[in-house]
Amino acid sequence: MRPNWLTRRNHDMLEWLFGQRKLLLKKGILAEETQRLDDSLWQAAFLSPDHREQLIRWSRVFIAEKTWEGCDGVKITQEMQWHVATATGMMVLAYPDWYFDKTATILIHPKAYKARVEPRFSNLTFGAELAGEYYRSGETIYRGPVVLNWRDIQSAALDANEGHHLVIHEFAHQLDMINGPSADGLPPLPGNVDEAEWLKAMKAEYKEAQDMVGQGYRILMDDYGLTQESEFFAVASELYFQQPRELLEYHPNVYDLLKQFYVTDTAGIFLD
Ligand SMILES: [Zn+2]
Repeated sequence: MRPNWLTRRNHDMLEWLFGQRKLLLKKGILAEETQRLDDSLWQAAFLSPDHREQLIRWSRVFIAEKTWEGCDGVKITQEMQWHVATATGMMVLAYPDWYFDKTATILIHPKAYKARVEPRFSNLTFGAELAGEYYRSGETIYRGPVVLNWRDIQSAALDANEGHHLVIHEFAHQLDMINGPSADGLPPLPGNVDEAEWLKAMKAEYKEAQDMVGQGYRILMDDYGLTQESEFFAVASELYFQQPRELLEYHPNVYDLLKQFYVTDTAGIFLD
């Protein structure tokens, strides 16, 4: 089912984009592209031939349409672009027409970077939301750039990386913000999913995870996911793609809720 947020885009822009996209989507798959896919995404080995082709074609469009900027001396390479594109495309395998159109620019630092934090302006990864200077792994801004770092991008590419995946985390925030400027942990759900029910169930899981940790239990989910509901959605999304079987085992309701959105049954496909 086509989610309702696809209909909101500007018409002229769409026509131009579709022309460009058609050209990129039509070309045959090159051996080099297959290699790029396998080198940048361990999950690719478990995808069906159709999904692998879809992901390669999707990545071409994503790479061509985004503005890529290196920071602190980084020179953007195809390898970097494919790493970001394949992970991002994996998240929307069920929505192949969605190319994160509100995300125009992707910035890549060499490693975690120091930056001034403006309170309540953005969703930070691994940083407190207080004014000051902090090291950040990445950041995502509504209608603004997604900021990443190459070291963390690489560390998540070839294995489950203990459930961490910077690209998935930041683009989960982008998905969360499709239906409004604030990341609130509610992405635009397919029409067959009851939004109020979904949100209520997700909030209950968030609360339960907080209670478990409050009582001294160790849980699968990283503590950072318990700082706010938007982080719960982003961190759970990382697990959904990086350690899906663990997520299904320890947080089965969270797995089911995310499956209603992402659709791809990662626990049934990816052996981490
Ligand atoms: Zn975050």
